[in-house]
Parts: sequence; structure tokens; C-alpha cells
Amino acid sequence: MPLDDSLDAATGDDRPMKPAIWRGLRCKCPNCGEGALLKGYLTVRDTCPVCEEDLSHHRADDGPAYLTILVVGHLMAPLIHFAFVHYRPDPLVLATVFTLGTVGLSLYLLPRFKGMVVNIQWARRMHGFGAAP
Ligand SMILES: [Zn+2]
Repeated sequence: MPLDDSLDAATGDDRPMKPAIWRGLRCKCPNCGEGALLKGYLTVRDTCPVCEEDLSHHRADDGPAYLTILVVGHLMAPLIHFAFVHYRPDPLVLATVFTLGTVGLSLYLLPRFKGMVVNIQWARRMHGFGAAP
């Protein structure tokens, strides 16, 4: 459903932030919510394959990587402390489990955070997203 039909009643915003963030976390187009935002693992499409929204203006840069490190680090640091204090596993087991967990969670979150950052830029009309075609 294009956002043109769903103006935010309170603010009159034609690009409300909350649906754009949720669509970004699902790696979907910020405008229609159906087209894939990314091609491959992290490459943002130039246009949405469903609604033809121009997505080439994004400038996510290091934001998604920063957010991924922030979240994964704040989850894994207390978990490794808890695991070490309460279970005292073999150091090799602890290192293996947390290495796989950290890498796996990072690979899972990175494209989702990239979608979220790109869609926030779209919703706030940053970097040319608000310019007339
Ligand atoms: Zn779209």
C-alpha cells in the first residue's frame, strides 16, 4: 500500500517515520512496503521493482555497521560475562559459541539496519529523496 493513501492524521506527514522504519527492518521499499529494497546482500536498488520509487539517493554509509556493532556488542558483552560466571565453559567452547553467535547476529542485523537507515532518510527527505523527479 503506497504511503500516498495513508497520510499521518496527526501531522499530515506524507512520509510517516514509523511505517518506513518497519519496512526498512523487513528490507522493503519505504514507499510501497512490497518491493525489495536490497539486491544481493547489501546493495540498495536504484528503483523499487514494484512502485518505481527512486532509491538512488540513499547515503547509509557507516550507519548500519555502527548500529550493528552497537547492538551486537551490547548484547554479547553481558551474555559472555553471564556465561562465564555461571557456567565456566571450556575457553575454546566459549570462544567458538560467542564467535559464531556474534558473526551470525551481525550478518542477520546488518541488512535490516541498512534498510532502516535508508528508509529513515527517505521518510525525512534527506539527500535528494524529497526532490521533485
Ligand atoms: Zn516500492
